[in-house]
Amino acid sequence: MARIQASRVVWDSLFTLVFPASCRVCQSAIEGFTPVPVCPACLRAARPYAGLECAGCGLFLRGNAALQETLYCGLCLQGAFVFEQARSFGRYEGVLRSLIHHLKYDGFRPLARPLGKLLAHTVQRLDAPVFDLVLPVPLHSKRQRRRGFNQAALLAAALSAELSAETSPVSGIRVRTEDCVRVRDTRPQTGLRAAERRKNVDGAFEVPRPERVQSRRLLLVDDVITTGATVNACAQALLDAGAGRVSVVTLARAHPEDADVL
Ligand SMILES: [Zn+2]
Ligand SMILES: [Zn+2]
Repeated sequence: MARIQASRVVWDSLFTLVFPASCRVCQSAIEGFTPVPVCPACLRAARPYAGLECAGCGLFLRGNAALQETLYCGLCLQGAFVFEQARSFGRYEGVLRSLIHHLKYDGFRPLARPLGKLLAHTVQRLDAPVFDLVLPVPLHSKRQRRRGFNQAALLAAALSAELSAETSPVSGIRVRTEDCVRVRDTRPQTGLRAAERRKNVDGAFEVPRPERVQSRRLLLVDDVITTGATVNACAQALLDAGAGRVSVVTLARAHPEDADVL
């Protein structure tokens, strides 16, 4: 496994050396060699969401952000989520969507690094950005083997490195990829209604060693959040195992009807 990963890393870097670097998003030529096949202008074009959001789950809301009110969405008011708070960098569209695609489906792993910076920015939008551990939302082992990596784990590692590099209240937090595992290979959430999504992922996660998360403040990381059903099921497993609290950050927030959210 380690060998396969090492050879992929070599391949990723060879790829950038052998082929002339052109930006995968806007197709313009990139000056010099770069491990990231996206130009600086496109990386800068991914802007954080600046509108109103639900104070709980971070759902993007319509309305005037200047009002600075504390607002909750209908689901949060019903107590639908067990995680403390969730925040997403931006909408699942445009450049951000394209960057996530290149990481996830085209396997451009070096993209995790600039995307980790966006996540570090997002962490600061949580009310209490202090954590003991960072955990990626796990993929089922079958799916991870097929893809060769878990994009959420790459993002969690990049985020942790970013936070450790800053003078930040969350510096030096560890990433644990093995503390929450996916025990059921769920079908893609695409096309499912909210209630079906919750049922689809119910009981899909397990915490093999509860003592490792006991009373810990956890930060769950994923690339995209849609209805929140997946992160909620994951948070439920961690809280059942004794976690102190679970917060969530994702790069993007997608509409349930976005066809390519898996
Ligand atoms: Zn570009
Ligand atoms: Zn909410």
